Amino acid sequence: MSARAQRRASASGRRSASHDVLILGSGIGGLMLALRLADHARVLILTKKRADDSNTNWAQGGIAAVFDREDSFAHHEKDTLTAGAGLCDRDVVRAVVREAPERVRELEALGVGFNHAGQGFELGREGGHSRRRIVHASDFTGRAIETALLERVHAHPNIRLEEDQLAVDLILDSRLRAPRRAAGGARGRSRASAAGGSRQGGNDACWGAYVMDRATHRIRPVTARATVLATGGCGKVYLYTTNPDVATGDGLAMAFRAGAALASLEFVQFHPTCLYHASARTFLISEAVRGEGAVLRTLDGTRFMPGVHPLAELAPRDIVARAIDREMKRRGDPHVWLDLSHVPAERVRKRFPNIAARLLELGLDLTKDPIPVVPAAHYMCGGIQATLSGRTSLPGLYAIGEVACTGLHGANRLASNSLLEALVGAHHAADEVRVRLAAAPQAPRAEAWRAVGTRPPREAVVSDHNWDSVRRVMWDLVGIVRSDERLAFASRRLRLLSEEIERDYERLRLSPDLVELRNIALVGSLIVASAMRRRESRGLHFNLDHPRPVAAWGRRTVVQERGKGRGGALVFGSDRHL
Ligand SMILES: Cc1cc2nc3c(=O)[nH]c(=O)nc-3n(C[C@H](O)[C@H](O)[C@H](O)COP(=O)(O)OP(=O)(O)OC[C@H]3O[C@@H](n4cnc5c(N)ncnc54)[C@H](O)[C@@H]3O)c2cc1C
Repeated sequence: MSARAQRRASASGRRSASHDVLILGSGIGGLMLALRLADHARVLILTKKRADDSNTNWAQGGIAAVFDREDSFAHHEKDTLTAGAGLCDRDVVRAVVREAPERVRELEALGVGFNHAGQGFELGREGGHSRRRIVHASDFTGRAIETALLERVHAHPNIRLEEDQLAVDLILDSRLRAPRRAAGGARGRSRASAAGGSRQGGNDACWGAYVMDRATHRIRPVTARATVLATGGCGKVYLYTTNPDVATGDGLAMAFRAGAALASLEFVQFHPTCLYHASARTFLISEAVRGEGAVLRTLDGTRFMPGVHPLAELAPRDIVARAIDREMKRRGDPHVWLDLSHVPAERVRKRFPNIAARLLELGLDLTKDPIPVVPAAHYMCGGIQATLSGRTSLPGLYAIGEVACTGLHGANRLASNSLLEALVGAHHAADEVRVRLAAAPQAPRAEAWRAVGTRPPREAVVSDHNWDSVRRVMWDLVGIVRSDERLAFASRRLRLLSEEIERDYERLRLSPDLVELRNIALVGSLIVASAMRRRESRGLHFNLDHPRPVAAWGRRTVVQERGKGRGGALVFGSDRHL
């Protein structure tokens, strides 16, 4: 029996127990929080595929932290605030930047092998950073972190990690207390799960999640006194993305259906340089490659970034991505070139062994050949509105890492600040969750999930078509450059698609595919709704009909469902609720 199967088998014997803490997701946020809590509490981590299927595992560049003598906290703060275009929370920026060196040293103590130069860390440089401050493990920093943390997690007796467990919806207090209804109502209620109920003012408490075993498709309630969403990003909402398949925005969708407030969803970061190659699914060419001197050229060899921004190729990502998009559209070219051929080959191979090796497999030599690249959806700057310690608008529900919106990134994330945010968030969330555990009673018993849909899932070809439609609408109409007309069209298309997907959700036997499809359709709709609301251009949100920033819009867009069940009203507000 494989190690993976053994973990699943051993887990299945203990399925019904209630836990102190349920963590959904096994990226840097979830794993780090589990390690911080495990000496005080019993922690269950559930993750929807393999333990290392996460955005974390794919991170190449590294973690931003001030270690260089030429650098200072003030510089790192300033760079973060500049990228964030007026929407960062200054207190959060200050706290994260100042804690960064300590959190990085802790990671190293846990076994992550960062590169060193002389006495200190070898520091890379990336777009938007005015100094060298990217701590890295060659160009596979994320894999080094994921591997080290997983080793520690597996070794800890108070942590259990179960793979192939897909959280479908959150368990809410109001649903536990709601009076039982007649068959029709109860069916709707159980399937609607967290989406409706007798929630008051969005303050429903969370007691765990309904979770599907990917092998059997059976759904069970898993209760806990504290539930943490560490489910990462939503790149799969877009047709082209650097994210792995697990990034379907499940945490955002579950939290929204439960009534939590979500913020800044219009700010989706597109990475400027994803490899454009017929045989490579998604492969990122790290920003650090431009940090080491790579330049961008159109297909006729013309360098175009110096005329766009004083930092040229090292301008913030949104500016580089928009410039590439403009050149491609203007010339009708399918990609642009990334050229590192003028940098000494030995230096390139030493700094980027992973990227160079992958490209060689595809017949491209990073040290000599121009590399074909296009922008692709990369990072969600918005998320579940949360404090730095993960507190959300629902008692008992916490959110950390990419799924959360703490105010660090504002309207645009500074490169390599996201692994850092997850690290610092996990550190603070551990304190916050411990306070909850000291006061909260045992989780109440949750009713079993009652499957209502009995019809077999749709043919793969139909389901694939819906996946493709949602993702194409988002790519074509809600991408790097938006307009009022494109957004309105996207909104109408997504409404039709969502209605059909909701009908399937009610009638068909649930499958992981349908659960995820429903989530990308919802998250796509929320991104569109947030983008339509922001009638200006700022940071990552660029609208041709409102091309400039407007001072009155210097606040976050908040979206929250207050209606009952699906299709409930979206409520937009400004900032600060927590
Ligand atoms: C190619 C690439 C390169 C990057 N490079 C960098 C970089 O150099 N520096 C940097 O700071 N950031 C980088 N990022 C961003 C960074 O990797 C992520 O923001 C960060 O890893 C997020 O960590 P997380 O713990 O929040 O989520 P993730 O690491 O994405 O983990 C989410 C976890 O939740 C699980 N999950 C999701 N939904 C469910 C569900 N319904 N039920 C159960 N489990 C679920 C997933 O399977 C996964 O285990 C990069 C991202 C990518 C894709």
